[in-house]
Amino acid sequence: MKPFSSAPLFFLFAATAGPAFAAQAATDIYWIDMEGGAATLIVTPARESILIDSGEHKPLHAHRTSHVRNRIKGLKHIDYFVISHWHADHYGGTYELTKRLPIKRYYANTPPPDRVDDDQQFTPLIALYRKPNAGRTVELNEGATIPLKQAPGAPPVALRVLASSRDLMAAAPGATKNALCGTPVSTPALDDGENAKSLALLFEYGSFRFFDAGDLTWHIEERLACPINRIGSVDLYQVTHHGLDRSNNPHLVHAIQPRVAVVNNGPQKGSEPNSMRTVLGSPGIKAVWQFYRSTNVGCAKCAEEPHCESGGRSRRPIHQVVHSCGWIFFNSNRR
Ligand SMILES: [Zn+2]
Repeated sequence: MKPFSSAPLFFLFAATAGPAFAAQAATDIYWIDMEGGAATLIVTPARESILIDSGEHKPLHAHRTSHVRNRIKGLKHIDYFVISHWHADHYGGTYELTKRLPIKRYYANTPPPDRVDDDQQFTPLIALYRKPNAGRTVELNEGATIPLKQAPGAPPVALRVLASSRDLMAAAPGATKNALCGTPVSTPALDDGENAKSLALLFEYGSFRFFDAGDLTWHIEERLACPINRIGSVDLYQVTHHGLDRSNNPHLVHAIQPRVAVVNNGPQKGSEPNSMRTVLGSPGIKAVWQFYRSTNVGCAKCAEEPHCESGGRSRRPIHQVVHSCGWIFFNSNRR
């Protein structure tokens, strides 16, 4: 893989159909390296911004998001900040971020809770979270849609909530049975804490579909995919839970058939063997990208795969170009 410039981000570009797509309204998606946390920035054709998660409570993480913002013309604030769940690597960076980048609206899987037992950093971080917004957070329930501005002449955009706090959106009329559900799989130990409450989000731009489920765990994935596949197929999959093996149930991953997957892993977190095997073995997968070639066995395996690329270290961004009607381009140009 060619070396990249020093900006710590992934970049993805989704454009409208036709050979002149570059001149048309576009959706941009950026994965910002949170060293094993999450921060995914979507900029819609109407130039509204959606930030899903904010990394950890580290000035470096807020700086990286701010750095990406500086490269996006006209982006002065975040229109919609969406917290997938209340773990430090997903919302902990909010306070530092708001010092650099105003946030207009806050959304999350639940209102700010009083306690999260499986996160030792919760008490100090939730106090910081409340500072810029007094805890004002819109709860997103399953089936909700965040109203996004539509750009004239561009395909419609939508951000829908398929699952929230272990509750699932009803299956769409005509949704079919998932034939993979009978396939034996090696089920990991139950993780039914805050991770299981993660939002499962579907972003759509025309026929382009991007699935981001935060750290959703195996048994909720099973319910989303079996016996009915409530998601359908997607173009792009943010590999759930940084590629940890408590998530990425093949009944779901293989049913949604992503063509491109992005792993927001860390140097020593995520990209675990079973998850990577599942993603790399998914029918129709064309490319898998991850921030780090970490020390985990799964990453070493990934690096050997011809259709899997790793940034190797966080300073090497990966730039992907995606056509909303089904073409996917990979572009390692420096930005
Ligand atoms: Zn996480």
